[in-house]
Amino acid sequence: MKPALYIHIPFCAQKCAYCDFASWAGREPVWEAYFHALKEEMRPWMEISGGKFYSVFVGGGTPSLVPAERIAEILRGVSAGEVTLEANPGTLTPEKLEIYRQAGVNRLSMGVQSFDDGLLKTLGRIHTARQAEEAFFMAREAGFDNLNLDLMYALPGQTQEAWEGTLEQAAALGPEHISAYSLILEEGTPMAAWATPQPDEDVNRMQRTATAFLKEKGYARYEISNYARPGRECRHNLVYWRRGDYIGVGCAAHSLYQGRRFANPDSLGAYLAGARRTEDAILTEEDVLEERLMLGLRTAEGVPRGWIRENAQTRRMVREGLAVFEKDRFFLTEKGMEVQDAVVLALLQ
Ligand code: SF4
Repeated sequence: MKPALYIHIPFCAQKCAYCDFASWAGREPVWEAYFHALKEEMRPWMEISGGKFYSVFVGGGTPSLVPAERIAEILRGVSAGEVTLEANPGTLTPEKLEIYRQAGVNRLSMGVQSFDDGLLKTLGRIHTARQAEEAFFMAREAGFDNLNLDLMYALPGQTQEAWEGTLEQAAALGPEHISAYSLILEEGTPMAAWATPQPDEDVNRMQRTATAFLKEKGYARYEISNYARPGRECRHNLVYWRRGDYIGVGCAAHSLYQGRRFANPDSLGAYLAGARRTEDAILTEEDVLEERLMLGLRTAEGVPRGWIRENAQTRRMVREGLAVFEKDRFFLTEKGMEVQDAVVLALLQ
């Protein structure tokens, strides 16, 4: 199988209050140099793959912030069954959308996060709920029939009712895919300095609400934070969870290829100065098994039954309603997914 390709665009209009990704605002002067470096980094991979990849994901950062022609240029000669571009609703225009479509982008992942303007402000997002809706319709108008909306819950001050309102508005638009992530207060972000995490039971309740509500609307939970209409699961993300090969290009991008894990530097300056593969490791069999379990048990399909020993511990997990042995698979239930880390740890021991 061809590897998947991830292209990182680390530029944003402004830094969101909760964000600790490799992304920077106000770096327009280096955009040109960055895209040149990306193209150079892609060149050998293009030669190896003949430009064909299993899937492509242009993520960030905010790929929709930079001129769409730059995205088209980077995608020239690249082909894949699924080509996703991450877009911030505050940055889309019909002209950009047309260029993306012509460049082969066939899926948009829109960072909506919330349909509550107060919460969007708290998050430091550059768009309003109305703009998110407008961007969604603009994308449909431009011919995109595969759209994802990213949502967040457990936000400071967010009530259960406000979360239900966001879910309702998202589902009413009818995207093919919805991601729902719980906010993590990452150390060093402005938000972590003042916000208090929501209590676990409230976070779990919001998560359960999302799963039940979205199920009713025809979206199956196929991974801890991801829901899709039948056949609209994100092919690219499934590569990560199934531990397939992927190449990441750009600052801070990670790769897994032919048994090696490697990553570019997190620093934009170092990347622009030519540093590549600053982390590079050959994985042991034990590492591989650990990763397979950790990733596979995030998904509804779980892992092959043969990987899991049937013993007192796993039988207890089944009895407690955390996991299921079924035909040739072993997977976690909704309840099991709430404590996925602990279950995986117990299995590894
Ligand atoms: S738009 Fe995304 S990558 Fe950029 S600062 Fe906000 S959360 Fe981070």
